Amino acid sequence: MSDSIKYLLDESQMPKHWYNIAADLPEPLPPVLHPGTLKPLGPDDLTPLFPMALIEQEVSTEREIEIPEPVRQVYRQWRPSPLFRARRLERVLGTPAKIYYKYEGVSPAGSHKPNTAVPQAFYNRQAGIKKLTTETGAGQWGSSLAFAGALFGIEVLVFMVRVSHDQKPYRRALMETYGARCVASPSSETQSGRAILAKRPDHPGSLGIAISEAVELAAQRDDTKYALGSVLNHVLLHQTVVGIEAMAQMEMAGDYPDVIVACTGGGSNFGGIVFPFLGAQLRGGKKVRIVAIEPAACPSLTRGKYAYDFGDTAHLTPLTKMHTLGSTFTPPGFHAGGLRYHGMSPLVSHVKQLGLIEARAYHQISCFEAGVQFARAEGILPAPEANHAVRGAIDEALRCKQEGVSRTILFNLCGHGHFDMQAYIDYFGGKLKDLDYEESELAMALAGLPSVAAA
Ligand SMILES: *Cc1c(COP(=O)(O)O)cnc(C)c1O
Repeated sequence: MSDSIKYLLDESQMPKHWYNIAADLPEPLPPVLHPGTLKPLGPDDLTPLFPMALIEQEVSTEREIEIPEPVRQVYRQWRPSPLFRARRLERVLGTPAKIYYKYEGVSPAGSHKPNTAVPQAFYNRQAGIKKLTTETGAGQWGSSLAFAGALFGIEVLVFMVRVSHDQKPYRRALMETYGARCVASPSSETQSGRAILAKRPDHPGSLGIAISEAVELAAQRDDTKYALGSVLNHVLLHQTVVGIEAMAQMEMAGDYPDVIVACTGGGSNFGGIVFPFLGAQLRGGKKVRIVAIEPAACPSLTRGKYAYDFGDTAHLTPLTKMHTLGSTFTPPGFHAGGLRYHGMSPLVSHVKQLGLIEARAYHQISCFEAGVQFARAEGILPAPEANHAVRGAIDEALRCKQEGVSRTILFNLCGHGHFDMQAYIDYFGGKLKDLDYEESELAMALAGLPSVAAA
């Protein structure tokens, strides 16, 4: 028998702490700068946007941070999530490699995003906040925060990037089912949105613009705060529940990864599965090869500059040092909407800069090819974003076959693609194109990077 195998932890084995990689970094993160003064930011500068509990996590260097019991109670609905050994896929590929994947599509919203939406809603509720504003690309984050808002009695307003809003009406319907309001961005509801529409009424939108709209509204009211679905340290912290479980499950399987693969948009599912393993390595444990996979049409890690930049287009956010394509960069409208952000998480950028991880960029058609091959072997239909990780893992397995060596590969299958069937219809209809960004657009966006004295 060589059917695929499922490794399940029981509820009592669900992590009680998140893992904070800041405790184990060989060099600390560069400071975050105030957008006005360009001086390092103090915790108080963030209070208009986030509750203090999340700000403390953002700057913490403690290795373990306790997961509050009410959050663990919600996690228990779908956590611990399963880890699979993909033996049917291994057989189809004819590879000597062992392929494992952690599956985060079992959450109510269908991805890893509720792992942070739930604690963010919890801490905001604890601070007496009534309303959260946010942005969403493909709609995964918007529906996750809408779900968490419904559980904790918080109103949610989502600015959804217009191309995705028009491509994915079912994601919007899901947000509305959970009780959130969803607006296409750029919108006429904010100053930043109106300024963009005045220049280009048919603007397709970008995550940078949607963030400006959400931040602008949150900064105006005391009972309203802002929630971000990726990029920030506290978001990656919450996602480490994925990697901590995966470590225990690999131990159950009597194995340890030689290679870990995850896709990167803002870096949260990547940090979530990778950081617990990388932290063990930094504390003297086994060395792991780590590969980030990003879309060739929005390649911040492989083609971006490691520089201080704004998180949004209207320049309302603090400046962080990260791999960036420039905050005004608008990527072409490819299908993995969750991977269309101009910047990369400062933590992921930092470990890339330190040479602790590798990065590769793929075009979308080969990713869909891999996703379909995976679905036919393992039965799970991946989200277009997750197809990038599947492509990366399959390529690693094929390399093992070529070299005649067996390695253990672990990847994060960060979400299912049931709301993304139009992308699959386009793929099967031969309508998907391997889009490239405009070199002139990138050059212009990079030329507009803020000048910050060497920090
Ligand atoms: C949002 C999303 C991503 C990209 O965001 P990260 O923060 O890089 O994880 C990837 N996959 C899925 C399924 C998503 O919903």
